[in-house]
Amino acid sequence: MSSQLISNIGQLITNSNENLGIVTDAALVIEGQKVLWVGSKNHAPAADSKIDAAGGVVTPGFIDSHTHAVFSGDRSKDYVARMSGQKYATGGIKTTVAATRTATEDDLIAHTKDLLRKCQSHGTTTIEIKSGYGLDVDTELKILKVAKTFTDETTFLGAHVIPAEFENNREGYIQLVKNEMLDVVTPYAKWIDVFCDNGAFSVDEAREILQSGIAKGLKGKIHGNQLGDTGGAELAIEMNLASIDHATHVSNDTIAALAESNVVTTFLPGAEFFTKSSYPKVNLYFELGAKVALATDCNPGSSYLTSMPIVMSLAIREMGFTPAQALYAATAGGAAALQRSDIGHLQPGAKADLVIWQAPTFEHIAYRMGDIDKKILMTGKF
Ligand SMILES: [Zn+2]
Repeated sequence: MSSQLISNIGQLITNSNENLGIVTDAALVIEGQKVLWVGSKNHAPAADSKIDAAGGVVTPGFIDSHTHAVFSGDRSKDYVARMSGQKYATGGIKTTVAATRTATEDDLIAHTKDLLRKCQSHGTTTIEIKSGYGLDVDTELKILKVAKTFTDETTFLGAHVIPAEFENNREGYIQLVKNEMLDVVTPYAKWIDVFCDNGAFSVDEAREILQSGIAKGLKGKIHGNQLGDTGGAELAIEMNLASIDHATHVSNDTIAALAESNVVTTFLPGAEFFTKSSYPKVNLYFELGAKVALATDCNPGSSYLTSMPIVMSLAIREMGFTPAQALYAATAGGAAALQRSDIGHLQPGAKADLVIWQAPTFEHIAYRMGDIDKKILMTGKF
């Protein structure tokens, strides 16, 4: 196995603790696909080849733990409507569903490839991708097959909204999702997710659907509390799900319960930005020691965003994150939301997914919204 030394690192972010585990004047050695050694640059062991970080910052690659990156069609009209003051509701998803149903698998692969290239260019090295723009058996399968060619973190979101053809037969759609659809997609999905909110699925419906997926071996997560305080976060705690995503409207009591639980709260400030909604505040989460993550929610309707540094900037500007908390949430937090211990940090044994930033300190990543010269090293598949 060949080894590589990254020398002359001004700040190395190892994430060995929540304060980022910073090593200054550092070096890092990679062997094969893993981090072998980290420490002071003066004590670096020899390696087969060398990269000079020129005094820059080395961070783990970003873990974007929540995206809807496989889709077709254009939703720019929704953006224009929203920016002129029209309120966000769940209906626009149906436009994307219609376009995604008619797209070929090859079209979807080509589009997703372009989009993921953008994500990666901003420093993302692991990405989760959900279905949910098919809402019929064939298209949900098509989306997950495409997603699986790019990442192992694939999520079945058949319960995104009720499709138009089932408008008068909710129960019929829920049965379809829980049975035939689930059976067909399970080989291509690691996770199951439900949009539990106003205009989507109720807490009882979400519980029923999640239980069916978990019984088939999928791991559960949930979209909840985006449009109202509608019980998704409480259900996440009850079912010990990996994460509650969005969490725009959560009561203080539930924040305290989240802090006591293993559930990661994944904030998606791009959604608040693009829907002109008010942002959740995170002070209490940090005060109580809750686990939090940041992700893009990359989707054409409510957050057409591929850049994790922009997500961090929004979280700092609008939600009360410090730059260190935002970086930790965008790396280690995302890994926790995906229940992965091999990514999101740069301690020995971690996957060698990292970014070398030509900046003097890590604060520059959010400060300059990621617009910094960088080199990205990754072992993942996209
Ligand atoms: Zn989402």
